[in-house]
Amino acid sequence: MSEGSTSAALAAVQSYVRYLQRLGVTELPITLTRLPLVAVDTSPSVPVPSATPSHVPVSSVTPSHVPVSSVTPSHVSPPVPTMWASPPPVPDRHSAVPDAATAPAASPAVRLAQLAASVRDCRQCRLHTGRTQVVFGSGDAQAALVFVGEAPGYEEDRAGEPFVGASGQLLTRIITAMGLTRDQVYILNVIKCRPPHNRNPQPDEIAACQPLWEAQLACLQPKILCALGTFAARTLLHTEETISQLRGRFHMRGVLQVMPTYHPAYVLRNPQARRAVWEDMQLIQQALGVRS
Ligand code: SF4
Repeated sequence: MSEGSTSAALAAVQSYVRYLQRLGVTELPITLTRLPLVAVDTSPSVPVPSATPSHVPVSSVTPSHVPVSSVTPSHVSPPVPTMWASPPPVPDRHSAVPDAATAPAASPAVRLAQLAASVRDCRQCRLHTGRTQVVFGSGDAQAALVFVGEAPGYEEDRAGEPFVGASGQLLTRIITAMGLTRDQVYILNVIKCRPPHNRNPQPDEIAACQPLWEAQLACLQPKILCALGTFAARTLLHTEETISQLRGRFHMRGVLQVMPTYHPAYVLRNPQARRAVWEDMQLIQQALGVRS
């Protein structure tokens, strides 16, 4: 192979690698010896950026099982992945929240991380003035089951994680009794910043934060939501019914099944509610096909 054709082939390979990077591919599970360099198509259908150097040594391009990002020659600035090159599009109602429906294709975890970063300094409602930090949510970005609570309390505000106090410990025991772990579910609140003195969130605060948890759910795409307590259930289902009226059966929110149940804090104050909560959890278990 002549020097010119080798350079063209390498340029084509580099162009293809950049294309894979834009698709989110991070590894090439092939070995160098299988790369058909002599068969690379250098026709105009494979775009070769003019900035691509023509003197890249073959050895810098070809190690097997090397992350795609390391294939770029060291003397060329690595291309910025498309997803980071510009801010994600934002919806009208919440300028800090990217539109999950139009965001570049990426894993749920990456999209959640982007979303969390974009709202770290959110000031869409007055609750930002009293918070320590935005309590975004935690757990498996691909969880089939998402628990939805109300708002962070003192300990959650300090820890930056939902359900870490006494209520959180009870929720952890409930999840364990279902045959799951906290790492296998996702937990979030419909209000991300602690209301002062743990007062009830006000309607404008609820409205301000709704696009955020809706964007979260769009990233998560779970199968089932478990609404913990009256506030979360009413917010998710747009109803004024009480939790006693709502619990015990699934409700639909679009394509999502929603199981309302008593909030762990209520169960701590009213141990007789444990049986009802467990009945609700068993319905979720059946829907998910998990056993204790
Ligand atoms: S409660 Fe929600 S909308 Fe209000 S400042 Fe916090 S993150 Fe933003």
